[in-house]
Amino acid sequence: MKNLLIKNIKGLAGILSSGNGPLKGSDLGNLEVLEDAFLAVEDGKISMYGKMSDLSGITDWRDLEIIDAEGKYVMPAYCDSHSHLVFAKTREEEFVDRINGLSYEEIGKKGGGILNSARKLADMPEDELVQDALKRLELVKSLGTGAIEIKSGYGLSVDAELKMLRVIKRLKEESDVTIKATFLGAHAFPERFKDDHEGYVTEIIEEMLPKIAEEGLAEYIDAFCERNYFTAEQLDRILTAGAKHGLKAKIHVNQFSVMGGVGIGVKHNAVSVDHLEELADEDITALKGSNTIATALPSCSFFLSIPYTPIRKLIDNDIVCALATDYNPGSTPSGNMQFVNALACSKMKMTPAEAFNATTINGAYAMEVGEELGSITVGKKANLIITKEIPSFAYMPYSFGENCVDQTLLH
Ligand SMILES: [Zn+2]
Repeated sequence: MKNLLIKNIKGLAGILSSGNGPLKGSDLGNLEVLEDAFLAVEDGKISMYGKMSDLSGITDWRDLEIIDAEGKYVMPAYCDSHSHLVFAKTREEEFVDRINGLSYEEIGKKGGGILNSARKLADMPEDELVQDALKRLELVKSLGTGAIEIKSGYGLSVDAELKMLRVIKRLKEESDVTIKATFLGAHAFPERFKDDHEGYVTEIIEEMLPKIAEEGLAEYIDAFCERNYFTAEQLDRILTAGAKHGLKAKIHVNQFSVMGGVGIGVKHNAVSVDHLEELADEDITALKGSNTIATALPSCSFFLSIPYTPIRKLIDNDIVCALATDYNPGSTPSGNMQFVNALACSKMKMTPAEAFNATTINGAYAMEVGEELGSITVGKKANLIITKEIPSFAYMPYSFGENCVDQTLLH
């Protein structure tokens, strides 16, 4: 592997000392930007950085690739800790239904939504799913994403859930984007269990989980705890069963209603609880002092016109917060982390620095790669964004809709 020197960097953003951990409270807004900087990469890792005036530190100039980043910012690549990037077909016809007046829940009730995606996925061969997902991975990479968590959950049968997770396993092998896999069998109740919800929970626990564990197909277990979907009690049992098979919890909670799922997640030491558009005081109490990361998904709020997660309340209570895309064909057909940053600033009143940290270092911790990724730290993997020429760091979330990323370098 060729060593790399990036020189004349206008601003090197996201510098953290090692062993920093996720950022919370007032620290979330801390962002060190070194102006007129260089960064060196050796064996795929960040080996050195500093002011251009101190560049004499590099003694071996042989076999060195040099990038001139004049006028550009360099920063850690985004870590998108919540996505459904593997799916069979886009669902723009439901988008039009919603424009014509149907709600997301109403579309779900008439057989659209997640069940629509499940029907399409069941018919699609594994190879095609891999090829489509690889294209999406390239797209999100071009927008700055260097790591992504991907969920199953459009299978909803033993075979189709395994198929989805095998697709994710192949993506891990074929893409240079860092990927974590989450088993989301409990995404919705399939047609055949419409009147027997308990029967499906049993299938998840007794048939799907043992096979997934045996093949080592997932790191995390997820469930959609929501009215008309899975109850807090079912969530509790599913997470207990997942833990027995070594799967940690990362869950969907409080998108439309408060059902007690946050407390259940914290009880199971969940890595993250995601959505939280609805938030009760008891949820804040449960999260405070826990290791569970609260992840907001503002692109979903934007697309569905539902409330945004009251993230300032979470930050003010010293709860670790991350931001992710929720990229999926139904509620968030966008994997653009730059847009997530823009929404976080304009709709959730986060500062550009807070939004950036929530999509890099805290996103990395929300998928348990915070020790290797998510910041400019000596020894971390050199997964980097080089921006286009931009006037300032805050220009990125300000100029929403514009792709400010020139290249995403992954090692
Ligand atoms: Zn989701």
